[in-house]
Amino acid sequence: MNTQKIEIPEWAFEFHGHKCPAMPIGYRAGLTAMNKLGVEKSLNKELYLFCENGPAHAAACFLDGVMAATGCTYGKGNAEKLNYGKNAIVLVDLKTKNAVRVSMQPAFFEKALNSEFVQLRKQKVEPKDIKPQVVMPLIENAKKMDENILFSISDIFEKDVELPKGTFEWHHCAVCKEVVFDNRSKVIDGKRVCIPCSEK
Ligand SMILES: [Zn+2]
Ligand SMILES: [Zn+2]
Repeated sequence: MNTQKIEIPEWAFEFHGHKCPAMPIGYRAGLTAMNKLGVEKSLNKELYLFCENGPAHAAACFLDGVMAATGCTYGKGNAEKLNYGKNAIVLVDLKTKNAVRVSMQPAFFEKALNSEFVQLRKQKVEPKDIKPQVVMPLIENAKKMDENILFSISDIFEKDVELPKGTFEWHHCAVCKEVVFDNRSKVIDGKRVCIPCSEK
């Protein structure tokens, strides 16, 4: 039983932009996956994240929490969205190829979707305009809820991940003169151009 209250760092709320329950739940999903794998936050690209959610209301915020906890981010290129419309993640330790899937328990998710917060969101009230009296108890609940009530946690399984190839090779685009990396430039009439210039 995990009855310890988990602290969500203030910078994660600042990065996310508003207070909502989905970001902290995502943060906890990331922590739960890292605990299961026995790994620390990814400083470089030690971990890789597959997030199963997509641009649905009442769910998309979850991914910002997962990214904050795991250090798997779009900027570093070790996160991707599968757009399955589900609040679940697969976290992979790239060194050992160990992976774990953490998904929101249907019973907990259903309760969250029936909350006053989500009812207000359905009426198009933006999260920043929802009263703290409505939001804060949900965040507190997300911090202290037993992780087995929040999540279903898979056994560890093996997963191969092919990382997109990066490059330090670059060129000046022959048209706009901006710097463009080799793997995203094109050769047209013998000249290196960037994609937007190639489409003009
Ligand atoms: Zn949010
Ligand atoms: Zn160009």
